[in-house]
Amino acid sequence: MKRNGPVTALYPGSFDPVTLGHEDIARRTLRVADRVVVAVAHTATQAKRPAFSLEERVEMLQEVFGDEPRIECRSFEGLLVDFFRESNSDFVVRGLRAVSDFEYEFQMAQMNREMYADIEFIFLTPDAHLSFLSASLVREVARLGGDVSPFVSPQVLERLNRRFGEDR
Ligand code: ADP
Repeated sequence: MKRNGPVTALYPGSFDPVTLGHEDIARRTLRVADRVVVAVAHTATQAKRPAFSLEERVEMLQEVFGDEPRIECRSFEGLLVDFFRESNSDFVVRGLRAVSDFEYEFQMAQMNREMYADIEFIFLTPDAHLSFLSASLVREVARLGGDVSPFVSPQVLERLNRRFGEDR
């Protein structure tokens, strides 16, 4: 990890949509980094049908982090290791909710390390009351007409209501 100049963290994910859990992790990252690049991965939801397009997901991230100039939101295609180098990041940050996240995260970190030896990962845990939250659960509850206002920011809630309100 290079140690000159501002420290940049890369926070990749599908963010379909961004939840208060993701927001908590990104803002916590600013305690150990000078800036955070929150990046929507093109490939992450290719298998599943996403609720929101890549552009919509980036827009929602920009809306919820609009108050924080140290957080930049964008998307990327291809390998994480390539984007890591291209964005001049110092480490990748990922959230760990429970033991169930560990195996996948560990495997992904090791695979990326095989491809690029200089990549580093830092894992942060969210506030306890957000540790059960996932974007897929939020999508599911919203799709079925449940109230997801405790789990997402108002801008995201509005988009979810518009998206799934039309389907019902
Ligand atoms: P999800 O798992 O919610 O679909 P992503 O694929 O976008 O989310 O995940 C991006 C990263 O954010 C992953 O490291 C994931 O573990 C983390 N994350 C997701 N939700 C939370 C949460 N509630 N608390 C902490 N980390 C989270």
